[in-house]
Amino acid sequence: MTDSADTGEKKKERVFSGIQPTGTLHIGNYLGAIQNWVTLLDEYECIFCIVDYHAITVPYEPDEMQERVRQAVMLNMAAGLDPERCTLFVQSHVPQHTELCWILTTCAAWGHLNRMTQFKEKSEQHKEFVSAGLFAYPVLMAADILLYKASQVPVGEDQTQHLEFSREVCRRFNARFGDTFPEPEPIYSDVPRLMGLESKNKMSKSLNNYISLLDDPDTIKEKLKRAAHDPARVRRDDPGTPEICNIFTMHQGFSSPEEIEWAAEGCRTAGIGCIDCKKCLTKNMIATLEPIRQRYQELEANPDKVNDIIRQGDKFCSEQAEKTMAEVRRRMGLR
Ligand code: ATP
Ligand code: MG
Repeated sequence: MTDSADTGEKKKERVFSGIQPTGTLHIGNYLGAIQNWVTLLDEYECIFCIVDYHAITVPYEPDEMQERVRQAVMLNMAAGLDPERCTLFVQSHVPQHTELCWILTTCAAWGHLNRMTQFKEKSEQHKEFVSAGLFAYPVLMAADILLYKASQVPVGEDQTQHLEFSREVCRRFNARFGDTFPEPEPIYSDVPRLMGLESKNKMSKSLNNYISLLDDPDTIKEKLKRAAHDPARVRRDDPGTPEICNIFTMHQGFSSPEEIEWAAEGCRTAGIGCIDCKKCLTKNMIATLEPIRQRYQELEANPDKVNDIIRQGDKFCSEQAEKTMAEVRRRMGLR
């Protein structure tokens, strides 16, 4: 915390994070990001963004975009982001993100961008056309964070490399134009990386390997029944290794400490089978996700409230963004 010069009160440090409207949010987003965001609401000044400019770096349906953005806002709120205690807004409604992005491309090393594993993975997924936007994605992410001078960025482990890149861009800008931005630090949750149901790739909106936050109880049951578990446990009495089992990782996000211990011990000693282990997880996951689904349905029935929250967030962020950009332009001799 820093002292605020005019009021003498302690000013909270700022948190920024974003989520792409590329599909329905899933339990990986929940455990790696949103659930963690909720824990930060009181300690930090929190800004959360639906990053639609990031989502257009891969093929998408323009007709679906508005609905996806709204769905992402509502799901974040349903999952616990109380708009009274944080700011929720939409990236493309604040054009300064793209202005700062261009400026930061001049502080970004091409060689560093060229090492990004997400670019390599996503180029493989979209071989038909790999956009330069996908390549520059980390620069836009750096702009998102620096525009609000955020010092903390709660993300999943898959964003570690991008955040390190943001830090390097931040250092280069500060060294060239004077101390302007704090160097952003990551904050990770207890489940920073959840694998997909097939246990081969990370759970992703753009791969069909997830449990959605909107899946109903029967769908959750079905998906978990078929989900990959520790391959060493072929028969009921084969002992397993919980640390390598994605079902156990999910327990860590949804079950009580006693149940996690029960699952770990039972797996190691073959005291319980994978079916018992999955049944317990299914019960807990449904207990967490059902209230989220219900709150989502309530929000869906109240579009004016959601529009108001987005409008308020856009307004606050536009003001903050313009303040930063005025400083950036001045320091760079642009205006
Ligand atoms: P896409 O497949 O379109 O990239 P995504 O599922 O990776 O979508 P993002 O919107 O890119 O979701 O990421 C939003 C946040 O969720 C980020 O902080 C990211 O690190 C986190 N996250 C995404 N997937 C996982 C996962 N499997 N485990 C933990 N955290 C995750
Ligand atoms: Mg992603």
